[in-house]
This record gives sequence, C-alpha cells and structure tokens, in this order.
Amino acid sequence: MLNLGKSGLRVSCLGLGTWVTFGSQISDEMAENLMTVAYENGVNLFDTAEVYASGRAEITLGNIIKKKGWRRSSFVITTKIYWGGQAETERGLSRKHIIEGLRGSLSRLQLDYVDIVFANRNDVNSPMEGQFEPLTTVVIVRAMTFVINQGMAMYWGTSRWSAMEIMEAYSVARQFNLIPPVCEQAEYHYFQRDKVEVQLPELYHKIGVGAMTWSPLACGLITGKYSDGVPECSRAAMKGYQWLKERVNSEEGRRQLAKIKELHLLADRLGCTAAQLAIAWCLRSEGVSSVLLGVSNTDQLLENLGILSQMTPQTVTEMDALLGNKPHSKKESRA
Ligand code: NAP
Repeated sequence: MLNLGKSGLRVSCLGLGTWVTFGSQISDEMAENLMTVAYENGVNLFDTAEVYASGRAEITLGNIIKKKGWRRSSFVITTKIYWGGQAETERGLSRKHIIEGLRGSLSRLQLDYVDIVFANRNDVNSPMEGQFEPLTTVVIVRAMTFVINQGMAMYWGTSRWSAMEIMEAYSVARQFNLIPPVCEQAEYHYFQRDKVEVQLPELYHKIGVGAMTWSPLACGLITGKYSDGVPECSRAAMKGYQWLKERVNSEEGRRQLAKIKELHLLADRLGCTAAQLAIAWCLRSEGVSSVLLGVSNTDQLLENLGILSQMTPQTVTEMDALLGNKPHSKKESRA
C-alpha cells in the first residue's frame, strides 16, 4: 500500500481496471471472480469510467460490490467523466456534464460516492479549448470542488492531462481556495515513458500530485501474445479494436515485438513472466502510486499479481539498455 501522491489516501500498488472487459468482453460471473480474487489478494482499488461499455462496466462493478457486501471503507472506487451520452450536453468537462455525469455514474454503481472522480480527456494532443465547448480550467476545478463538497466524491484527479494543465489546475485551486487534484491517470509502459518518468515526478515533488498509471502491458502487446499474429481470443481480435490490430501489425509494432522477445529472455532468466516483469518495472518509477491492471481471466490476474517484489538497479539498467528509450530525467528513478 502506498499513499496516493501526497494525499492521505492509501491505495494498493496494483489496481483492477474494467476497461474493455467488464460489461463487454467477459461475463458478469468472470467479473465477480476477478474482483473477488483481486480483493482477497490485497487489491483495494477498482477503476472504471462512465464510457466503459456505455455504462455497463459501472453497472457490473456496482452489482458485484453490492453482492459482496465488503465494507465500503475498505476499498477505493474511481471513475472518469468525459464521454457520457450522445447529446452535446452529455459530454466533455462542462460544469453541467461533470455534475450530471457523476450523478449517472453513482446511480449505475449504486453508491453514494466514489473515492476519486477523474476529469478525463480524449487526447492529450488536442487542446482543451477545442473540445465541445470552451473549457477553462477554473470551471473544471470549481465543478470538482462542488462535487466533493456535496459528498459525491472524496477526491478528484486528472486523466491524460499535460503537466502544464495539471499545474494550472493546482494554481487555480490555490488562487480561489478550491480543491486541487490528487493524482493524474497516465499511460505508462515500456513504449510510453516520458510523461511518467520526467514530468510527473517533478509535479509530485512540487505539488504532491501522484500518478496512477494504466495499460502496463500496452494492451497485451508486452505479454508477447501478438508475436505470431493476432490470437482469436485477444483484445486485438475484438470488434471495435481494429486500431490495436493495426498497431500490432505496424512497422513500429513489429519493432516493439522484437524488443519484447529480448525482454522475454530476461524474464526467463529472472524466473518470472514477461507480464510480471513489465508490471514490476512500472512500479519502480518514482511517484507511481498504483498501476492499473486489465485482465480477461483469473489466470492472467493471478499471474500479474505475482510480480517480483523488487527490481534490482542492475535489472533496471539492463532493461533500459534493451529498450534504448530512457528519457532524460532530472532525477534518477527509485530503483
Ligand atoms: P494492459 O495491462 O495494458 O492490457 C490488459 C490486457 O492484456 C488484458 O485485458 C488481456 O487482454 C491482456 N493480458 C493481461 N494480462 C495478461 C497475461 N498475463 N497474459 C496474457 N495476456 C494478458 O491494461 P489495460 O486494460 O489497457 O488498462 C488497465 C486499466 O487502466 C483499464 O482497465 C482502465 O481501468 C485503465 N485505463 C485508463 C485510461 C484512461 O484514459 N485514464 C485508458 C486506458 C486504461 P486479452 O486477454 O483480451 O488479450
């Protein structure tokens, strides 16, 4: 367990995500098995979003929580707001959609509050201003402060925001006596490193914002399952995930798969699997409070939960040499 950023919220270093799987790829029975195995193995963090399976992921998650009867104070539920429904007013980060969107999530989850509500973005590269309506950071910070003061959420965070935007949210909160975000949800794996390794540690030290990272296996690519094509029962073979298949088959995908082969050999030598090595590698990074896992069955979950407890500096150095993409960082990583 670690504190989430410099907040007092204690989260397990691994969390269970519901994207792709809950309410879509897997049965509700499997979803329940996954949550049970996760909870019984010390995972206290469950992540969802209003958009996952068009709301069905939240419904499934909510039904399981209700059925299990776990003490509400013993686990952490996070959701994300941005893509709600079809109408223009049901999307984006307007005050209206933040408040109504979160109300919808709470109703699907059958909960009085979530622990963290994230202000999601569709894409870091498109400026906030271009999205649905002119967004100003102060509007978002005010709406997030409101939902927290109303008891609908304990904390709020950002998802896919740039370091500059997070800093701005923090400054606005300080200026107007509002509540700043506690953490950023960011993509982090072997092939996506800069933000989490260079920018977020600085924010963590300056303003205490932690990192909850996602897609540690690059949607499964890092397990090596795509080395000989796309298996039938895999995310890249699913309807609607053509983009992943294209990514796997692209020139860059092929280059990444070659590196993954080398990392497999290293994992073999260390006596762990490629997935375990990749997840442990994410956790070594300074300021990473929790890594969100995605799994489609209990075997995958048990494998991924069995990560190496610690990575030695030699292993990290060896992996950096293999990957050849270590970003220039002002501070060295934890390992
Ligand atoms: P991931 O670890 O990169 O990919 C998970 C997928 O890889 C699984 O669904 C499974 O897919 C495959 N897999 C996992 N473990 C495996 C194993 N041991 N052996 C073989 N295959 C394995 O994680 P992710 O699902 O992309 O992301 C995790 C969570 O992060 C999400 O559920 C969500 O909560 C969060 N997230 C947040 C954002 C955001 O914008 N904030 C974006 C994306 C994700 P198959 O079995 O189907 O191949």
